[in-house]
Amino acid sequence: VPRRRYSGYVTNGGTEGNMYGLYLAREAHPKGIVYFSEDAHYSIPKICRVLHLPSASVASQPSGEMCYEALARRMQKNRRVPAIVLANIGTTMKGAVDRIGAIRSVLRRARVRQSYIHCDAALGGMLLPFMPGSPPFDFRAGIDSLAVSGHKFIGMPMPSGVVIALRKHIERVRTNIEYI
Ligand SMILES: *Cc1c(COP(=O)(O)O)cnc(C)c1O
Repeated sequence: VPRRRYSGYVTNGGTEGNMYGLYLAREAHPKGIVYFSEDAHYSIPKICRVLHLPSASVASQPSGEMCYEALARRMQKNRRVPAIVLANIGTTMKGAVDRIGAIRSVLRRARVRQSYIHCDAALGGMLLPFMPGSPPFDFRAGIDSLAVSGHKFIGMPMPSGVVIALRKHIERVRTNIEYI
């Protein structure tokens, strides 16, 4: 994916990056529902509350990875509603990774026409790219935005993180500030 198609910024932590990603998702799909697994970080339901985003919790497998059949069942009930899927790239307790390919095939099979995938890679984002054979979770895999933490795996001394998103989503919320 060409560099000009995405952008991002340094945040004050994983929560802020996830909030930004879900904010861009809401602006793209104001009527959307957020799907996330039971193993998602506790900040995710909190962010949905702050952003007034309806959400649906999806069962997890014993490994902590999302159960894709449970996701499909949840989606079938809301097939006409845009789906915002929060994928865990390393859950806090078990390090489980939700597969982007499996999520996209559920979206296709449920015939959900509008969707957005945000990756909460606070934990795994700094680690998995360096592990051979780890599942893809980048823009090529079909995600829309991704948040990583700076104070977890690379041990930044101050709370921080990075969020990146497709530029088309950022353009939607852009405003011009006269003095900068
Ligand atoms: C730690 C963590 C967060 C929140 O990050 P903060 O930097 O504490 O805001 C979000 N998601 C996951 C998976 C985490 O492990």
